[in-house]
Amino acid sequence: MALTGIQIFKFLPAGKKEQNANCKKCGCATCMAYAMKLAKGQVDINSCPFIDEELKNTILNENRKPQIKLEIGVNNKVVVGDENVMFRHDKTFVNPCCFAIELHSSDNDFSKKLEEIKTFQIERVGENYKINAINFIIDNDDFEKQINMVLNSDFPLIITINDIKVFEKIKDKINNLNPLIYLKSQNIDDLISIGKDFSVIVDGENIEQLTEKTEILLKSNIKNMVLNLLMKVNSNIIEPLTMLRRSAIEKKFEPLGFPVMVSYDLTNNIAQDTIKLSSLVCKYANIISINGFNQALLTALITLRMNLYTDPQKPLQVEPKLYEIGDVTPSSKVVVTTNFALTYFAVANELESLSEGIYLIITDSDGMSVLTAWSASKFTGEIIAKAVKNSNIAEKVNHKNIIIPGLVSDLKEEIEEELPDFNIIIGTNEATDLPEFLKNM
Ligand code: SF4
Repeated sequence: MALTGIQIFKFLPAGKKEQNANCKKCGCATCMAYAMKLAKGQVDINSCPFIDEELKNTILNENRKPQIKLEIGVNNKVVVGDENVMFRHDKTFVNPCCFAIELHSSDNDFSKKLEEIKTFQIERVGENYKINAINFIIDNDDFEKQINMVLNSDFPLIITINDIKVFEKIKDKINNLNPLIYLKSQNIDDLISIGKDFSVIVDGENIEQLTEKTEILLKSNIKNMVLNLLMKVNSNIIEPLTMLRRSAIEKKFEPLGFPVMVSYDLTNNIAQDTIKLSSLVCKYANIISINGFNQALLTALITLRMNLYTDPQKPLQVEPKLYEIGDVTPSSKVVVTTNFALTYFAVANELESLSEGIYLIITDSDGMSVLTAWSASKFTGEIIAKAVKNSNIAEKVNHKNIIIPGLVSDLKEEIEEELPDFNIIIGTNEATDLPEFLKNM
């Protein structure tokens, strides 16, 4: 637990009734003021020249992030790690698990596979998602053309090499690209040499092996590491992955305070692959390196990841405004709902299925669904009336009909009081029933 200001004060010259007490060299008027600020992380620990070494180490350890944040790539970069809770409901997960697709330099279909990775993109709740990184595995001598293609692709790169000689050959090419280097030989001296300028992957078959290596590398001041747990992916891998995360977050054990990578070999059973990879996304892989590209599988994984890495305290919301769905005309019908993203997309998807254009007015309801917003007074007659007025819908259509969700039929009179020129129509409870309802109007 972090030290309080009073606890810190006891170790300072004034607290110990020593010389130099309240000398102001730290920029604070008194040792007590400095202690209070230090407890809140508002002053530099080195600004007091008389601070106790033991206290300094304790505070530095307390303030150290449990899991380091690591960036791969430069312009188009992926960020992993920096997690600080075990469970999403505690707070929020920070940096979504990175999906890296493996590409071998010796692959005959190299160009085709690279193109597949480049063009893959899905849209979910208004966001576009792509593959996060390429794990470029150099496994032949003649890789010049392939490495140039990968470097030109602008993807964040993990570069897997067998020995340091290959690294020496490519070092100049990758110098400014901030890749993550995986040296398969894992020679410690070579790892230290590479780790001085690049982030490196440290592998091990279990937690003990990983700890042994990272402790050595930490002593050589290598700080940017990713742990690669070399285990077959089945239900047994969840336990060590959980222990790794627990060691970092709860124990603040520095040798394991790094993002974790797991490699996965696809099988012919996509259902099994989806289940296993989903469990890695949930617990607790920061990077998953997959040895192939499967659009359906990635679509499922990205959707799962998107749900896990939203902040449970911040509802997903869309901008409150007037949306035109399809080709609208002055006779287009007007529908109102809240700005909760899932409500918006549920309604908009149904409206898109119609052959006619529809106006959709989205209220500012703090990202809540219809009933939640209504019970929290965020979807009231006044708020709906304000959204209708702000939309200038009266100038766009030649009728006065506004359709509200059936779930808030009680609001009809209240809205009519606020909007006396409009005719309020009670719509359906479910978005799925809207198209039929609108066709029959
Ligand atoms: Fe106290 Fe600040 Fe002087 Fe340190 S530098 S002894 S904290 S007043």
